[in-house]
Amino acid sequence: MPASTPLRYRVAMPEPSSHEFHVTLQVPALRERPVLDLVFPAWTPGSYMVRDFSRHIYDLQTTSNGRAIPSERLDKLRWRVVSDGRPVQVSYRVFAFEQSVRTSFLDQDRAFLSGTSLFFLVPGEESRPCLLDLEPPAGWRMSTALPAVRGTRHRFRAAGYDALVDGPVEMGLQSMYAFRQGGTRFEVTIAGSTNADMARLLADLRRMVDAAGALFGGFPFDRYLFIIHALPERGGGLEHACSCTLDIAGMAFEDDKAYQRFNELAAHEFFHAWNVKRIRDQVLGPFDYTAENYTRLLWFHEGFTEYMQAIILLRAGLLTPEQYLKDLGEDWAKYAGRPGRNVTPLSELSFEAWIKQYKPADNYVNRAVSYYDKGKWAGLLLDLVLRQATQGRRGLPQVFRRLWQSHGRRGRSITAADIRAAAESVGSRSLGAYFSRFIDGTAELPVPTWLRRAGLFVQARSPAQAEGEDRVKTRRQRGWAGLSFAAGEAAAVKNVIPDSPAWQAGLTFRDEIVAVNDHQVDASTVAKRLADCGPGQTVTVAFFRQEILRTTSLRLVRTPERKWSFAIDPAASPTRRRVRQGWLRGF
Ligand SMILES: [Zn+2]
Repeated sequence: MPASTPLRYRVAMPEPSSHEFHVTLQVPALRERPVLDLVFPAWTPGSYMVRDFSRHIYDLQTTSNGRAIPSERLDKLRWRVVSDGRPVQVSYRVFAFEQSVRTSFLDQDRAFLSGTSLFFLVPGEESRPCLLDLEPPAGWRMSTALPAVRGTRHRFRAAGYDALVDGPVEMGLQSMYAFRQGGTRFEVTIAGSTNADMARLLADLRRMVDAAGALFGGFPFDRYLFIIHALPERGGGLEHACSCTLDIAGMAFEDDKAYQRFNELAAHEFFHAWNVKRIRDQVLGPFDYTAENYTRLLWFHEGFTEYMQAIILLRAGLLTPEQYLKDLGEDWAKYAGRPGRNVTPLSELSFEAWIKQYKPADNYVNRAVSYYDKGKWAGLLLDLVLRQATQGRRGLPQVFRRLWQSHGRRGRSITAADIRAAAESVGSRSLGAYFSRFIDGTAELPVPTWLRRAGLFVQARSPAQAEGEDRVKTRRQRGWAGLSFAAGEAAAVKNVIPDSPAWQAGLTFRDEIVAVNDHQVDASTVAKRLADCGPGQTVTVAFFRQEILRTTSLRLVRTPERKWSFAIDPAASPTRRRVRQGWLRGF
């Protein structure tokens, strides 16, 4: 058989309410492979957790030229077939009833096909072209970035396995829209119910893609698809080379903030079309689908994307600098209050994502921080350092443009050293200290200092000093125990900040507080009863640890929490103003 004979995948759904896809894979005669292994992915790129999708496979059968041949199961992911080089057909069912951007889904109304949870790969044949035949119920529409085979309606092609599973498919009665921008056709498909003003959503998307494209000097594709799932609750996004999936709360478009949230998610996933899909660590494509793919660069691929999404929206005019700075102040207050932010270096947080960030233990908040969150602040910091070094002229966007030109566009993967070299060349200065202290070290990110240097007015206030707010309420925020509570009716301890009064009193994760100073409390009243007492006062706490009632007492201290506000400083020096104007484009 010529090497170009494709692997043929067929997906039927004769009984959508069973949530089972009927999948067949036809492997052509491969004389050099008398023993054929079939491997089912353990994870899906972009979502760094082992999910063992093979747990949803049923009724696997293997045949050759119409006759059953035995298959041997080797482990949770692998089946082995002795084919003697003959063609093999594998048929199986996949239960698909998890609604997320990274899993397949089927019900009577719609289907979402995510290739890593549907398709076997044949080791050694990953670059063999693939054909995908879909057999949806009558009347269903189809949306995918996979190119259709000319002259067919239900047949799509992919250059190899990576491309096949990187082109999710939405099927059903979705609404479909399209617009052209800079020579690229953008398609938008939305499934589910939404109260969004679609005209506004599409106009916003058009401005967003334009701003992102301008940053790189054009789009790296002729066609790009946004698959939007309008669901009861939002569920994040997932990037692909020529499409992305966005799970949003469909009926939440009640205010401007909802559109801003949508734009942020869309900008994030769209920026990934460059950062991580094309500008990427070597281990992030081609992928090993059978196990963890360890990268130390998720702070860059995810955290810096998180930062750049706002820069894109600012440039698109979809976010005002005032709103951006307001959000930034609120986010910094949350980040700066995270006890685990300076325990583990960003590069290490990235490496450990598989076993820590996505399988968080009770103490996660105290011992770690998300590389999205910290990576975003590290991105802002690097942008400001570069702006300062270049009198505002160049910053992080130029680093991305440079890496796109030198690596992404040429299909060359990047390393941490390449990122540093690109940044040093943009800033015309050494950045050794930045990378060793903030990426490979655990130094506190000096964001407030650098925001001042960028011409901002920076203020940190104790909640008890907040002006213009209810004075009784603010006074009640002065005392602090160091406790946070889980959602639910009972006052179950979610976290105890190390060395806080609650920590010293011996309280721990999952303790259920039932009384404060002999007053019964639940989740809705525990913080209020603690707030009845001020700094220096001793509080008696009764709690259940498992089934045993215990008591302890703790002495509240003055809250270390701060409210941060960042605003344009009209009196900033000309040097600082230049940094700010380069960063925020003219403000
Ligand atoms: Zn992302």
